[in-house]
Amino acid sequence: MQPIRFHEMRPSQIKPIREKFPVCYVPMGVLEWHGEHNPVGLDAIKATAMAEYFARHIGGLVMPTVWWGDNRAILAENHFGPEICAEIAKGHGLPMQAFFDDAERAKQDGEWKTWEAVMRTTFYELTTFGFKVIVTISGHYPLHGPAINAANAFEPTGRAKIISIIGFDLVKDRFEGDHAAKWETSLMLYLRPDLVDMSALDPDPAKKPVGVLGVDPRGNASAEYGKQGMEAMTEALRPKVLEALAAMQ
Ligand SMILES: [Zn+2]
Repeated sequence: MQPIRFHEMRPSQIKPIREKFPVCYVPMGVLEWHGEHNPVGLDAIKATAMAEYFARHIGGLVMPTVWWGDNRAILAENHFGPEICAEIAKGHGLPMQAFFDDAERAKQDGEWKTWEAVMRTTFYELTTFGFKVIVTISGHYPLHGPAINAANAFEPTGRAKIISIIGFDLVKDRFEGDHAAKWETSLMLYLRPDLVDMSALDPDPAKKPVGVLGVDPRGNASAEYGKQGMEAMTEALRPKVLEALAAMQ
């Protein structure tokens, strides 16, 4: 299979692909509770797998994933209300207060300031490496606004066009985003089934899955639904990428 991970490729492998199609994808995510059935890195893992799918079906290369430096104040652990946060803390086996304290610390540290600065620096790096179109994929939805802020701060340089997406926002007419529920779990079941364990959820329908927002994944999430979502997002993204590329050439 054709390699697509920029950081794993030699310059002689990168050059012909970049010269023909100077598009790169930047997956972004955080560490956050995603139900008992999903890994805590779901957002970044999902965004990475999506980026690789897009690169294979649209073209371009995948850059290393951005995991760190987010505003730690908008997480399931400290943002879903005290009752759910207590259950999540129990699931982690950690004190809930630690996550609230970190939210306060993040606020004092300027919320998204660090992350936006990292992204702006990253855009310079990507364009120095010759990319003309950058697709950022916000696996964690609260990254989306700051990603747009960073893109807006960078685009006046004229060095690249930046397309900022979450994923489901491309196909909102047919699909709905959620947190660890039907949508996100289905994407994982399609893209990274090795990391999902549906049997970790209580089969009792009266017991709501902890820290899961959206349509119940039990009986509703499937690899097939994830596949449909990926195909729809790819068809919606392709014309945007081609248009941005045409505008840069
Ligand atoms: Zn998520």
